[in-house]
Amino acid sequence: MERPTLGTPPGAQYVAGRRRPGRGEEFRLTDPASGGELLTYRLASAEDVDEAVAAATAAYPEWSSATPADRSAALTRLAAELDSAAEELAQTETAQTGKPIRLSREFDVPGTVDNAAFFAGAARNLEGRAAGEYSGDHTSSIRREPIGVVGSIAPWNYPLQMAAWKILPAIAAGNTVVLKPAENTPLTSLMFAEAAKAAGIPDGVVNVLSGQGSSAGERLVSHPDVRMVSFTGSTAVGRRVGELAVRGVKRSHLELGGKAPFVVFDDADLEAAVHGAVAGALINGGQDCTAATRAYVQRPLFEDFVSGVAELFGRIRIGDPADPATDLGALISHRQRDAVAGFVERARAAGAVIAAGGEAPDKGHDGADLSAGAYYRPTLITGVPQDAECVQQEIFGPVLVVLPFDTDDEGLRLANDTPYGLAASAWTRDVYRSLRATRELQAGCVWVNDHIPIISEMPHGGYKASGYGKDMSQYSLDEYTQIKHVMQDTTAVARKGWHRTIFGDV
Ligand code: NAD
Repeated sequence: MERPTLGTPPGAQYVAGRRRPGRGEEFRLTDPASGGELLTYRLASAEDVDEAVAAATAAYPEWSSATPADRSAALTRLAAELDSAAEELAQTETAQTGKPIRLSREFDVPGTVDNAAFFAGAARNLEGRAAGEYSGDHTSSIRREPIGVVGSIAPWNYPLQMAAWKILPAIAAGNTVVLKPAENTPLTSLMFAEAAKAAGIPDGVVNVLSGQGSSAGERLVSHPDVRMVSFTGSTAVGRRVGELAVRGVKRSHLELGGKAPFVVFDDADLEAAVHGAVAGALINGGQDCTAATRAYVQRPLFEDFVSGVAELFGRIRIGDPADPATDLGALISHRQRDAVAGFVERARAAGAVIAAGGEAPDKGHDGADLSAGAYYRPTLITGVPQDAECVQQEIFGPVLVVLPFDTDDEGLRLANDTPYGLAASAWTRDVYRSLRATRELQAGCVWVNDHIPIISEMPHGGYKASGYGKDMSQYSLDEYTQIKHVMQDTTAVARKGWHRTIFGDV
């Protein structure tokens, strides 16, 4: 399989089975770990968007009428292609995002391969609910059909997995796709498209446009031949994308921001909760829409929880993302690092206690100079009220805020008190508390005694301002299909009973 290299790529647009340069302006990809240049490419122009949509439109009749078995076989081959490119995918993902190589190797890439294997199976399990003679004079049946060309837009935090989540269910169901990854992380999406070609998926079924949101993104969402818009990103941009989709009367699927609460009741296993909070807050540098961001800890455990997390935060090895010993790499960009630092500085200025971190490190765990990279220390904030900016808004960095609560009612109420509702966790050994928390926490996913794990068979998606629609699992196939009711006359008579409403008894 032909793979992109980090040196001089043949262009960052993948249209109709071919990689080529865009016709837009030049864009410099920065290495988050060093601040240096990774590569420069030409962005997608409006003309590139039109070409990609035309390629997906042309590929639709053949792909949508392929048998589920044929689509399934192609996805099985895609899983094998991705698996065979695993190490290169992991290294490229780490190079473009700054995430630790351990995460790319052990989470991003295997998760993507497993997703492809899952949708290979799911492609053969599309179903309608019932068929029968409901009117007495007709046989009704359900056809579940693909929608057409899907315009997908993905964020930079998990570029490979987001490409997989957007493309796999869509093509499993018979749609064709134009994916726009974030402009600063196009590389593994391009590799994904090339793996699809190597797997024998026809040209035009998967297209990748590397371009800016405000230009290529809006053009894609608004294109009249795009029948569905699938977006993952921030709530602010999701609103705009949703508005554009409504204007075109297109189906939309919005996976938006999160501010996951982490609720620790006083009977919890403290060691498990402390380790869970550290891992849940720092995964992917905290640039994870389900990351643990607000820990609510019942008063008897509060002090020990804060000191336990602060101690573990201090032991996290920050450094070169390519080093397997590194726990926390660089954030996606200097801009993101400065945005995170801004949240922490405003909290500090408002009187918060910064119990750990609160600054960019000079040196890594191995003594290397980190000053040119987009690094930030794991940061623990306490002493802030529920309405503080750092409690209410998505920071998207390695920052955990901890607040105490007294009664179970209060803990659950505070946990639900943000506009978001993507994920939440409850920590308790009491089955009744657990049942209550899983019922009352307003989020699309609630973990008990853990925080973060996902699995291909189960859905991921938001409540409230975290959006609507589901990724992964059989549920995502509902997003990418439409239901047709077919009603066939069984009487074979010219004058149907219901014609009396028109003709009377004559
Ligand atoms: P973002 O909203 O800034 O950008 C996401 C994508 O939208 C990018 O590809 C961007 O180029 C594009 N875009 C920007 N403006 C656009 C416009 N006007 N029209 C069309 N497209 C446009 O988000 P980000 O900073 O890349 O990612 C971080 C955000 O993503 C966080 O809020 C995070 O919570 C969210 N996220 C959510 C999930 C989820 O499953 N709910 C998963 C990952 C990330």
